[in-house]
Amino acid sequence: MCASIHYRDDEFLGRYAAVTGACVIQHLEQLAASLKGARVVHVNSTREGGGVAEILQKLIPLKKALGIDARWEVIEGTPAFYACTKSFHNALQGMDIRLSDKLLEAYEETNARCAERLKPILEQADFVFIHDPQPAALLKHFPERRGQWIWRCHIDVRQPFRPVWKYLRPFLSAYDASIFSLPEFAQPLPHPQYIIAPSIDPLSEKNRDLPDAEIEKVYDRFDLDPERPMVLQVSRYDRFKDPVGVIRACRMAAKLTPLQLVLAGGEASDDPEGQAVLEEVRQQAEGHPDIHVLLLPADAHRTINALQRAADIVIQKSLREGFGLTVTEGMWKGRPVIGGDTGGIRLQVFNHYTGFLVRTPEGAALRIRYLLHNGRLRRQMGERARRFVLDNFLITRHLREYLTLLVSLQA
Ligand code: UDP
Repeated sequence: MCASIHYRDDEFLGRYAAVTGACVIQHLEQLAASLKGARVVHVNSTREGGGVAEILQKLIPLKKALGIDARWEVIEGTPAFYACTKSFHNALQGMDIRLSDKLLEAYEETNARCAERLKPILEQADFVFIHDPQPAALLKHFPERRGQWIWRCHIDVRQPFRPVWKYLRPFLSAYDASIFSLPEFAQPLPHPQYIIAPSIDPLSEKNRDLPDAEIEKVYDRFDLDPERPMVLQVSRYDRFKDPVGVIRACRMAAKLTPLQLVLAGGEASDDPEGQAVLEEVRQQAEGHPDIHVLLLPADAHRTINALQRAADIVIQKSLREGFGLTVTEGMWKGRPVIGGDTGGIRLQVFNHYTGFLVRTPEGAALRIRYLLHNGRLRRQMGERARRFVLDNFLITRHLREYLTLLVSLQA
């Protein structure tokens, strides 16, 4: 059907067509036709670190390539603002956290100040996507908005801590629509809710193919043993990612199977707890030469890519997870993933098929040993995992769903 469509491999969209097939790109162009020139603004609270920044870095250029006037704005706050929004994040993922009036004031003040700065842009926008709770209170400052405002929630809000949800709800209720990653995360809000799963960019530095020599370099660079099987978790240092549980699991597994664990993480500028969690992790790893705790700069995308390809197993033992791009990234590299049985990980890891779902360090240890003893199974699961990402979790599918949503909101 698409035989007559031709994209050149050296053109921006043509490079995507080479991965997904030309029909997929043509479909995006058809959907975008009525959105040409539409002003779409995305707002979040960090330009790097974490999944939201990772997605926006790729989504904006693609929207532009399709003729949409897309832009990305970042709000910046005081330490009290980040302390407050990190607590929101923890509370929305279920932790019992009381917020002082002072922190809530810092939240509202930062939003008021940023609303003032962004006024000329947001007032003109046809569509505004507000990512997560950090900038959610901006809308209050646009009582006469002309565009449609959509709240895009990336976190696991299955069971939010009620008092915090109650505080945020009036801000969120004013939106025209909201988007969650999974149906289970949808909330009683007085507007339409859409389910859109996140995605990875197959052409980014994080995910593109790499020469073998570049993959092999990571052994020397991080003092890893090329002969010893490698288990890898890439994550911000955040308790919901359970890095300490991963260390426990690997220590249990290593009693019977030789292995090395690499925990690779960096800092997100909007995450004030990272340093404390990193210290905890370093303490747990102390004295274990086969546990490598790496603190990487925010732009270490190729390094992470190489580590994921060097790994035998990718692990993401989160206790709560909105989606888990690191799972998708590992799967795209043909690695089986051992993932925490929670949130968006369940959408990607099909137990015994693309990897294993686990709940405890003991369960993870069992699966690590099982996979390290079964090279054939690792390869089979890895192949299925890559195929599953190709069909479901590439940025082209993500963009198609965003465009469909914009077209229907425009109608
Ligand atoms: N990431 C990174 N450097 C790090 C840690 C994470 O580039 O040190 C990237 C990781 O590769 C993934 C994203 O940040 O693309 C994390 O997204 P995920 O959905 O897994 O978790 P989040 O941080 O959003 O909770």
